[in-house]
Amino acid sequence: MSPLYDAIIVGAGPAGSTCALYAARAGLNVLLLDKSQFPRDKICGDAISGKSVNYLEELGLIDKLQLSPQVAVEAILFSAPNGTKITVPFLPRDNTAIPPGFACRRLVFDDILFQQAKKEVTTIEKFKVTNLIKKGEAVAGISGINSAGVEQCLSAKVIVGADGYNSIISRKTGFYEHASQHWVVATRAYYRGVSQMTNAIEIHFVKDVLPGYFWIFPLDDGMVNVGIGMLHHELKKQSISLRQAHLAAIESPYFRERFKNAVLLGNISGWNLPVGSMKRRVCGDGFLLLGDAAGLIDPFSGEGIGNAMCSGKIAAEVLVHTCRGNDFSAARLRQYERKLWSELGAELKTSTMLQKLGKYQPLLNLVVGKAAKDKQVRTLISEMMAGVTTRNVLLNPWTYLRLLFI
Ligand SMILES: Cc1cc2nc3c(=O)[nH]c(=O)nc-3n(C[C@H](O)[C@H](O)[C@H](O)COP(=O)(O)OP(=O)(O)OC[C@H]3O[C@@H](n4cnc5c(N)ncnc54)[C@H](O)[C@@H]3O)c2cc1C
Repeated sequence: MSPLYDAIIVGAGPAGSTCALYAARAGLNVLLLDKSQFPRDKICGDAISGKSVNYLEELGLIDKLQLSPQVAVEAILFSAPNGTKITVPFLPRDNTAIPPGFACRRLVFDDILFQQAKKEVTTIEKFKVTNLIKKGEAVAGISGINSAGVEQCLSAKVIVGADGYNSIISRKTGFYEHASQHWVVATRAYYRGVSQMTNAIEIHFVKDVLPGYFWIFPLDDGMVNVGIGMLHHELKKQSISLRQAHLAAIESPYFRERFKNAVLLGNISGWNLPVGSMKRRVCGDGFLLLGDAAGLIDPFSGEGIGNAMCSGKIAAEVLVHTCRGNDFSAARLRQYERKLWSELGAELKTSTMLQKLGKYQPLLNLVVGKAAKDKQVRTLISEMMAGVTTRNVLLNPWTYLRLLFI
């Protein structure tokens, strides 16, 4: 019997819902399923970058975001370990009044994408995938526990693993790898009553968690997203408790005053970020991996939503071709890997280099100090963040020497 669906997408986060929407609009018959019921939270910094905004705009969902609880983000504030601060404005978007970025709780953001997907594809919530169904060596379906607690099997031409860092699809295909030098761990907590908030997201390089940073991001209704993230490898090496580092940053002389009247809402939670400083395997016979399941988070900024959406779009394009050719082999699906790395490879390489440099306190003090004094340096940083600076410029060591010596 031939499978009912062209693709079953496991996980309805930004990667899965984006893939479902592009695939449906290209005429594919897809099933999108998730173990949670939406709206659901996801531990995150909640910063929605320009890249994510581009996909949202392309999908026609930017109005929904603007009508939802969120804040428009216009700039980024960096502080060096010695306390020097700079605020760099984001480049405005061309010919549009849409802000360059947003901060929006994932409870809200992911639900915008999922509710749209629900209108356009078949969706199932509260379905936890527990295993794969195979035809020979090829993945041909999934099995899992549905909302009634009953085991159910479903088949498709291709299974798309968009199920986050702990992906069952990558585990069951033997692709899961926890390499601690390519893995960041982070805390996240919501507060109310933090003072001196602006419409800038704040990234503070605090000396006890390098390479990594402490962030303070403004949210709707006076809420603030606060967290701290660090490379797992370094965390283990230096025996750091991230929760204690989070509390210590808040209590430190730089931030104590701002958190004097702050109230913690809920808990300080922890989560994992598989970063794209290594090239992981992302496809095999009958399956693809997307977003965090493919380890696509930016190693320097920790931004993963935009890359997850990017992988969702590319996967949908490749699914259209493979369904037309009726060939779901690893060799055919490797198109996805090629397109993905040609789109994201250079950027991830640059961010890996920046992450490595971000380990050196004196360098961070120097760069932020230079930028504090020099508008040219701030402009270069703005362009780098907006992706206006070309790949060759970013990979050229002279760019960084210029940063230091202009
Ligand atoms: C603390 C922290 C801060 C971050 N800050 C930012 C930020 O500010 N901006 C940014 O862009 N990125 C940030 N990131 C990264 C970002 O959160 C992820 O890159 C992004 O969520 C990846 O999207 P995804 O769709 O691949 O996975 P997810 O968002 O994790 O979605 C996966 C989905 O799969 C479902 N699922 C999992 N297992 C199963 C199963 N067995 N069966 C069925 N469904 C399943 C889950 O319920 C979930 O809905 C941060 C990450 C962390 C941990």
